[in-house]
Amino acid sequence: MHKVQESFLSMNSTVAIEVENVTKRFGDFTAVRNVSLELKSSDSIGIIGPNGAGKTTLVNLITGYYTPDRGSIRIFGKEISSFTPAERVSFGVLRTFQLVHVFDNLSVYENVALSLYRRQTGKHALLQSFFRSLGDEANLRKVEEVLDLFHLSSLEREQVGNLSLGDKKKLELAMIYVVDPEVMILDEPFAGLGDQEIDEILPILKNAVQKQKKTMLIVEHKLSKLTSIVENIAVMHEGAIIASGPCEETLNHPEVRRSYWKLDSCPDPTETK
Ligand code: ADP
Ligand code: MG
Repeated sequence: MHKVQESFLSMNSTVAIEVENVTKRFGDFTAVRNVSLELKSSDSIGIIGPNGAGKTTLVNLITGYYTPDRGSIRIFGKEISSFTPAERVSFGVLRTFQLVHVFDNLSVYENVALSLYRRQTGKHALLQSFFRSLGDEANLRKVEEVLDLFHLSSLEREQVGNLSLGDKKKLELAMIYVVDPEVMILDEPFAGLGDQEIDEILPILKNAVQKQKKTMLIVEHKLSKLTSIVENIAVMHEGAIIASGPCEETLNHPEVRRSYWKLDSCPDPTETK
């Protein structure tokens, strides 16, 4: 799997994600309307927009859970619109969901190790052989390293069902980070958390992303939190991207002021929406 990914990286552009004129309809309803978006390797972008704007649908299109009705999606220059989510994972496109996806009856350590193991062996790997592989030295070091990076080392033996939501979110991020993703796609990774918990996770995520120069697309409602970890944002409204670019400039865009803020005056982008 890794080989395919590496050959893509060496052969193709440094543009990690290219979404070009993508449209997705559900019956008569157009959830994503002619969206184009480009994200260079190692860059990060935040997607904002009101509920129902089409953010999760866009994430589902990029990660392969939906197929576009029109348009093209390329990862490192390769057209992947018809690829399954698992095939996109093999090209390094890893995501989190709005609701946490972790195994409550396993320990923190086992969840991260399982994530790494499934990437190495394919998702149909037997759980039995997974438990046998837990002693593998290189994997052990890798898991320990990532647990440390995400401040989860002290909880490694804890059963995940006993964790706070904040720690579960950290764990979910660690589970995608451990497989060395090329592109991390995070759909509202802080949903349901209070400001204090978000402020604890933000620097951890920022440090991890910067450490390995990850490409990141992150959907997040809380603007003040988002602008502290991304350089660029795109604003979605009724399925379309109405503005994108550097945070401050985009938030001051007349169309964003009108449609997103519903204001004539200019907001303070550091304020939480
Ligand atoms: P956001 O994440 O910005 O809140 P979504 O992408 O989840 O918005 O949804 C955009 C619109 O598309 C919503 O009106 C939602 O009801 C609709 N939608 C999303 N997924 C489906 C689906 N599978 N079938 C029908 N409508 C859907
Ligand atoms: Mg959503």
